Amino acid sequence: MGRLVETAHAKINLALDVGEGRPDGYHEIHSVMQSLELGDIVVLEERAAGVSLDCLPGDPVKQGALQFVGSEPEPMPPSDCRNLAWQAAEHLMDAAGVRRGLNITIRKAIPVSAGLGGGSADAAAVLRGLNRLWNLGLTIQELAAIGEKIGADIPFCLSEGTAEVSGIGEKIEAVPSPPPWPVILLKPPVAVSTAACYAAYDELPQRVAVDVSNLLTALSEQNIQAVAKGLGNSLEAVTLQRFPDLIRWEEMMENAGCLGVLMSGSGPTFFGLARDLKEGTGVFMKLVDSIKQEQRRPLPNLYFTRLWSDRRVRL
Ligand code: ATP
Repeated sequence: MGRLVETAHAKINLALDVGEGRPDGYHEIHSVMQSLELGDIVVLEERAAGVSLDCLPGDPVKQGALQFVGSEPEPMPPSDCRNLAWQAAEHLMDAAGVRRGLNITIRKAIPVSAGLGGGSADAAAVLRGLNRLWNLGLTIQELAAIGEKIGADIPFCLSEGTAEVSGIGEKIEAVPSPPPWPVILLKPPVAVSTAACYAAYDELPQRVAVDVSNLLTALSEQNIQAVAKGLGNSLEAVTLQRFPDLIRWEEMMENAGCLGVLMSGSGPTFFGLARDLKEGTGVFMKLVDSIKQEQRRPLPNLYFTRLWSDRRVRL
């Protein structure tokens, strides 16, 4: 019986420009997505028949975080056919005309409903992994066509690294990856529904435009100061409007010395950049201290990780 292990890397949106809602409910986006070292571990094991799935808490420090300080247990996604990883396996088997027994074990280190694309990353890892395990010979474009039916971020999560993403998420242009700059993630103790966030976006009197071109130039020059200035996210205002308390975490990250703090996707996770590990460690420790002084509970969880790219996989 075959067995294979894949890493499903989290993503952040360095820039996310969301257009008007389309009649089919989707939104056109223009985004620069970036993978992080932090990831879930997805184990695929053949079994006699049927699909089963176990979703277990992972260990962020063994799964791409240099440091993790958190007191709040993150909720686990469902261990059944509602899990996007399960759906990916079913869709792939239908598309490839195979039906085999499979157990999926997910060691969850990416916080759920956090704007870090964890569900999409797991689904993409299943598509990549089963293609290898069963020698299906599908191209990454064919896998992306299967994945986009399950979730708009899955095509990016298949290739990972750094990419300019457009359409509803299906158009991926690889962008030269920046160095593995340190990233600090602050995950406030609230879950944000991406669908509800987009629905609230449609209620705004006008859309929030983000210019992605400055960020792309800054990335090509590997200029972290300019990258920090070029960060932008159309959805941040919407989530801050729904959860006004979140703004104090963003301010705390800025005060601790993060370069360019931004909410990722529909949030609520904020990320901040640092120039190198020494600076990143200093900022992280300052944040840990600031959070220790907070009286109100529950507290956010803090992750210290890095930008990640695997130059072998390209669309
Ligand atoms: P995105 O940024 O792509 O919108 P997110 O990071 O905000 O996603 P996810 O963690 O991917 O959110 O989860 C969103 C929803 O998907 C949750 O309701 C969760 O229960 C469900 N879900 C299904 N499968 C998974 C999975 N493998 N991991 C995480 N969430 C999953």
